[in-house]
Amino acid sequence: MIRVHIIPCMLPDEQTRSLNRESGRIYTATLVHHYRIYRQAGKVWLNPMQHDRVLKAFCGPSFLHAHSYQAAQQDFYAACKTAKTLKTSNPLARYPYKRKYSHTTTWKNTAIKVMAGRIRLSLARGHAPIWVDLPQHLATVPPATFRQVQLVYHHATRRSCWHITIDDGIVPQPTSHSGIMAVDLGEIHPAACTNGEHSTIICCRALRANAQHCNKKTADLQELIARCKPGSRRWKQLVASRKRLQAQSAARQRDMLHKVSRAVIDEAQVMQAGTIIMGDVRDIADNTKTEKRLSREQRQKMSNWPHGQLRQYITYKAAAVGITVELINEAYTSKTCPICGTRNKPNGRHYACSQCGYVGHRDTVGCTQILSRRRTGQLAQMVPCEAITYRHPFRRASVVRA
Ligand SMILES: [Zn+2]
Repeated sequence: MIRVHIIPCMLPDEQTRSLNRESGRIYTATLVHHYRIYRQAGKVWLNPMQHDRVLKAFCGPSFLHAHSYQAAQQDFYAACKTAKTLKTSNPLARYPYKRKYSHTTTWKNTAIKVMAGRIRLSLARGHAPIWVDLPQHLATVPPATFRQVQLVYHHATRRSCWHITIDDGIVPQPTSHSGIMAVDLGEIHPAACTNGEHSTIICCRALRANAQHCNKKTADLQELIARCKPGSRRWKQLVASRKRLQAQSAARQRDMLHKVSRAVIDEAQVMQAGTIIMGDVRDIADNTKTEKRLSREQRQKMSNWPHGQLRQYITYKAAAVGITVELINEAYTSKTCPICGTRNKPNGRHYACSQCGYVGHRDTVGCTQILSRRRTGQLAQMVPCEAITYRHPFRRASVVRA
């Protein structure tokens, strides 16, 4: 499996800046040369493989490793390729035209050497290499599995990071477990899991709080920005802080979702599941702007709900341990009564049936119905189990409530 690990960069700012500026210079020279030939030779679209030497003569010598140099040039052609594909669906898509002052520097596996818990990144001949200390969890990874290292600058947080790509070459084998675990993705509790005998609710209120905080602060900043003259010094400062706020919030969310998805996979392994069934909620948050069925507050909650990202994290983490993930229609799963099949509107987390008087937790009703639909093709064929574990992915220990 190929995985990208992100670790903070401890190099002095001056050094990271000079590396990425050099990559930017090569990228820009490639772009300029490419369009110059295009104009002068009568619309000739260069092929980077054929013009390698001419291109190199134009870009000039560099202190980067030959393959890092090539990577910067290839990035321009990769961007052209992306634009070409985009153009088929979006006529407004443009070929890359902007000069880049700074560009991500890439070290390919030929420039990487791993020894004694450190990576050695080569530069051009005559220039001292760069050493990067690996964190503990990467120190024991076999050296041959390192594929690529990138020095990425995050504008919003004003920090550089190493993006380390590792391909361990392991093809995950399907697990020997044959159980089925149903997962109901929710807006308040990110996931509720059940195998029919036991239910676990993964709680993470901080996820929604984080999104709401970000929305509120963005609105405050937006108001200040609207009062400034566009392009003024104050305007630039405010726009930058809005960008930083949103990037920080996204980073926190990403971290929490990784922990939630890890908790779901741990749960699947405890329940000895070979398959995870998830309710398909992909189109639930569509048209939140035009759809007036929900209140303004509800629409904001739906827009903030990162179910796609969570599904993606669960899917790849499941694949790594050989568990398959299936999506299933989730319509009415948390509305239908598991005993009599009447549709009721749950109030908050509490589910109460107006017909038969069944009372239960909404999220366990939801995931049990998903399991029922998968096993029998129908709803209301299984009774939600009594024992529920509340599990917080990163704070306190689990609590069992009957
Ligand atoms: Zn009922």
